[in-house]
Amino acid sequence: MQIPLLFGPYGGGALAHAERLADYGVNAVWFHGFDADAFEACRRHNLAACVEFKTFRANFDERPELIPIGVDGQPIRYGRLVQGVCLSQEEFLEEVETALVEGVRTFQPTGIWLDYLTYAGWFETPAPDLQESCFCPSCIAEFCQATGIDADTPQAILAHHRDAWTRHKCERIAAFARHYGAIIRAHLPGCVVGAYMCPWRPDEFDGALRRIFAQDYSLLAPAIDVFTPLIYARKSGRAADWGRAFLESARDFVPADRHIQLILDVLDFPDSLEHVAASREPSWGIQLFGGASIFAEPDAARIFAAAVERMRAALGGP
Ligand SMILES: [Zn+2]
Repeated sequence: MQIPLLFGPYGGGALAHAERLADYGVNAVWFHGFDADAFEACRRHNLAACVEFKTFRANFDERPELIPIGVDGQPIRYGRLVQGVCLSQEEFLEEVETALVEGVRTFQPTGIWLDYLTYAGWFETPAPDLQESCFCPSCIAEFCQATGIDADTPQAILAHHRDAWTRHKCERIAAFARHYGAIIRAHLPGCVVGAYMCPWRPDEFDGALRRIFAQDYSLLAPAIDVFTPLIYARKSGRAADWGRAFLESARDFVPADRHIQLILDVLDFPDSLEHVAASREPSWGIQLFGGASIFAEPDAARIFAAAVERMRAALGGP
């Protein structure tokens, strides 16, 4: 399948400027959920409608049963940005699936980006609080059943079966990716399936990409057309060239036949975007988180347009 080259803001707020987005190189808008108004605005202005679909994220204050269990047998510590849930919560998983099925039956998005497709944690910070999870009895039983390993405590698992535990978590996430991808493709054969990713290389934070978030690019690749790491440099305490550095090293761990499309943060604009536009390894399109404000300012919007032009040229396209 040919994956379209898409550039634009993330956030339905940008559609307030829908009539002038195309003047600045924008051909797509990403927005949260299956939002009928956003679909209609995209249709009217000939913009590709792309959905960010929330998978494993919930308000833990309202749904405490979803909080994963940590190595001490207690619910994990969490902050405002936490994503991931206990994946043995069938009722919640049914809610997610129902929302996806309803969405793909009702709308025809150009793409659907699966968000929060991870085990629990949060990464938009320079000093992440990384905790192993989920060690609830059901998740431990699932591990034992899937692997044939006999271990009943977090301590036994981490002491003797750490690699198998990590692998099992990654396979569990990848199985959900396949399942959701299959639902999308069954209803919308041409729809791009994307995934938002923890933006860390596999070797950072002692392997936390797989060990904590259970995101394994190779295992996810069969289900995912476009990988979108969240390159929020300032929030993460990184330099403005982080996105470029990611792109230029990503082929060490992202399968060659899969596209990488960064999402950049408007707080890092324009430096981060300009670095990405100069990358030796181009990003397959770009999303700009919170980008609405850029398109209210012609000077800023022109910077975006120039970067898009440069990236299109680097990709050999029009
Ligand atoms: Zn669990």
